Amino acid sequence: MPVSLAVSKRRRALSDLEGRVFDLVVVGGGSVGAGIACEAAARGLDVALLERRDFGSGTSSRSTKLIHGGVRYLEKAVMRLDRAEFHLVTEALAERAAFFRTAPFLAKRLAVLTPTYTRSAHLYYSLGLRFYDLLSGRGSLGRTRSLDRTATLALVPQLRDEELVGGVLYHDGQFDDARMNVLLVCTAVSIGAVAANRVEVTGLVKEKGRLVGVEAEDRLGGGTFMVRGKTVINACGPFSDVLRTLDEPDASPIVRTSSGVHLVLDRGICPRDTGILIPKTEDGRVVFILPWMGRTLVGTTDEPAVPTDNPVVGNAEEAYLLRYVRQYLSVAVGPSDVRSAWSGLRPLVRNPRARRTAELARTHVILRSRSGLVSVVGGKWTTYRRIAAEVVGAVSGARPKAVSPPVLGARGWSEQSMERLETGCHLVPEVAAHLDQSYGTRAEAVAALDVGGERLVPSEPFLAAEVRWAVREEFALSVMDVLSRRMRIAFLDRPLARRCVPRVAAILGEELELSPEAVQNEVNDARRALDSNI
Ligand SMILES: Cc1cc2nc3c(=O)[nH]c(=O)nc-3n(C[C@H](O)[C@H](O)[C@H](O)COP(=O)(O)OP(=O)(O)OC[C@H]3O[C@@H](n4cnc5c(N)ncnc54)[C@H](O)[C@@H]3O)c2cc1C
Repeated sequence: MPVSLAVSKRRRALSDLEGRVFDLVVVGGGSVGAGIACEAAARGLDVALLERRDFGSGTSSRSTKLIHGGVRYLEKAVMRLDRAEFHLVTEALAERAAFFRTAPFLAKRLAVLTPTYTRSAHLYYSLGLRFYDLLSGRGSLGRTRSLDRTATLALVPQLRDEELVGGVLYHDGQFDDARMNVLLVCTAVSIGAVAANRVEVTGLVKEKGRLVGVEAEDRLGGGTFMVRGKTVINACGPFSDVLRTLDEPDASPIVRTSSGVHLVLDRGICPRDTGILIPKTEDGRVVFILPWMGRTLVGTTDEPAVPTDNPVVGNAEEAYLLRYVRQYLSVAVGPSDVRSAWSGLRPLVRNPRARRTAELARTHVILRSRSGLVSVVGGKWTTYRRIAAEVVGAVSGARPKAVSPPVLGARGWSEQSMERLETGCHLVPEVAAHLDQSYGTRAEAVAALDVGGERLVPSEPFLAAEVRWAVREEFALSVMDVLSRRMRIAFLDRPLARRCVPRVAAILGEELELSPEAVQNEVNDARRALDSNI
């Protein structure tokens, strides 16, 4: 009996994994692992990428979604005259510009307002954010502007105005982290990498003390097998120490995890095109209130946490973020306004002298063990490409200059692509914009999968065709893969995601040739996930 495209693709990938000897075996399919796979494949290396859950299901789908140099790190760099922090900012600003070239349809420019309540604070942020813009050089996304009280309130009318002096408007980038993650994997595969999700590395294989591969388990019931590789890269993010102790049982931990919670509130809480940065909370953090995919994203917190697959959003963290929204904006928001919430675990590099996780630098480290295991920990989404180039350069003896190509859907994309999509595929502007921003030049192929243009929910632009695309072209294997990371609906609005579950499960069942029982299990699993933690 002929098997579906998605099923045969996965079978072929698993058979390739078992049968070949790779130059690199990358363990962990978050931003770091996917970035390394892409960079290595672009340099002509044979690369395997193994992810035990879904690509981007860890920290990499749970970020603030900013492509940024890090305003807060710049402040620390200047206050402490810290060269490492300063380097982190300048490097990230250069990578911010590269990100826009790599994924122009996923990255967008975002204006962010910092409200000020004293004249000295106004001057401080004005100078600081101008310096931030200056450092970005030709990669500047827009001139920083100092606004008086009237102009500030005109821009963000919902801002509380008691004692408001004005605001400082600066620019950063914003992107869809989970889609970027999966597109990096798809791009790597399009240039020769072999990638599989639901494949867990459970052991390391050594010969005469040298690593020669990994023991892998197909978590969809295919048993265990060996993947041979000349070099094994540990890109397990918060779980990197687990692989390090498989290699050297007495290895001292290098990761310290901290949880960062985000909430999604309804649209209209912050303006459509302008975010708000609360530069200093009572406990010395920053909180962002940002427009994101038509809703409002608020984050984040920073609390020590233990690595776990499903980090929980605590009531205290939710209350903390809501309190800051109410303190700065005249909107009456409470727990019932939270459409979705999640926690992400920062894989921070340990520094025994740091008292709080917020004090740990967001730089990365690359370590090579005696057996040859290369572990990469830390860094930011923004700098994934730089990290990947450094790792691939280090293991192949080549230059650490990134060569990875633009992601699939980027070549030939322009600001006018959406209009062409509207007229060429007869799509209403809302749907055309959504497809254009999610798939770039591949949007037309997505729309062509269902000429009827069935929507998952009448009031939203998400199409049933996207579910088929996710399974056929983007490695989705479950309802939650689709709803959380290919289409973001679970991250945007859990009640809405719940309504989509039966239809998504039915299409998934068709595409993966699932039995009616398996489809029902998918429905149950997705409902359970949406009721607890995504
Ligand atoms: C709250 C928060 C906000 C952030 N905001 C931003 C931001 O706005 N901008 C920015 O640039 N950066 C941001 N970051 C940082 C950025 O998200 C992370 O640095 C980055 O995503 C880390 O990616 P990673 O690949 O190291 O980890 P992960 O994404 O966690 O990937 C590791 C992967 O390894 C897999 N894995 C683990 N063990 C195994 C095994 N044995 N076999 C196979 N696979 C395995 C896991 O399932 C996981 O998918 C933020 C981070 C947090 C937590």
